[in-house]
Amino acid sequence: MSRMPVLFVGHGSPMNAIEDNEYSRAWRKIGERMPRPEAIISISAHWYTHGTRIMNDENPRTIYDMYGFPKELYQVTYDAAGAPAIANAAKQLISRETKFDNTWGLDHGTWSVLVHIFPKRDVPVFQISIDANAPAEDHYKIGKELSVLREKGVLIFGSGNIVHNLMLVDWHKANKGFDWAYDFDEYIYKNIMGKNHENILKFNELGTIAKLAVPTPDHFYPLLYALGASNENDTVSVYNKSCELGSLTMTSYIWE
Ligand code: ZN
Repeated sequence: MSRMPVLFVGHGSPMNAIEDNEYSRAWRKIGERMPRPEAIISISAHWYTHGTRIMNDENPRTIYDMYGFPKELYQVTYDAAGAPAIANAAKQLISRETKFDNTWGLDHGTWSVLVHIFPKRDVPVFQISIDANAPAEDHYKIGKELSVLREKGVLIFGSGNIVHNLMLVDWHKANKGFDWAYDFDEYIYKNIMGKNHENILKFNELGTIAKLAVPTPDHFYPLLYALGASNENDTVSVYNKSCELGSLTMTSYIWE
């Protein structure tokens, strides 16, 4: 069994699920070059809860947790199996209190990307939620605790956006970002490449640009799970390093 990479994807618009664009094409390439996982643990920005929840459904359903998109987006299903045994192993590994919870399903943070990375839907997948009340260090620690599952063929997959400020979206800035968006994204990039995770956990110390880039941490925290699950010996690569609509970055990383 091969040791699995760790993946963080900037997912951006749910429309990427049904579009053939530079982002979705990059996701397809990742799937093609990656060994086939036994299972995927997805940490999506969109399952943001009080406390840490783990999905252990045999067959998680696809949920449509977004509004106002074209009808065809609501017809996408991601009907991969769940992985209750691995969900149970994950629960044992996480030192903080967790609960099984199947009231959610695979949300668009998960399926809009996985339809491209694993289009055959033949890899079991489940989600672990993001505790909205936990500090950055706790998310990072969960990633670290789960990292041993990489040896068992489990892909740890964080899906969010490093810069994500919907209030400041500028529809005239396709493929462009505000200066502060590039600055924040670059700060994270340098510290990921230099493996200075401490600086990433202290992102708030950047002040104004951090407040603009991460007005709420739901889309940022998935990165911390991936960072925690990575280790010193991994080679890290960046892809889709770009801004959209001024205040979103699509920048994504793989550790392998
Ligand atoms: Zn999102």
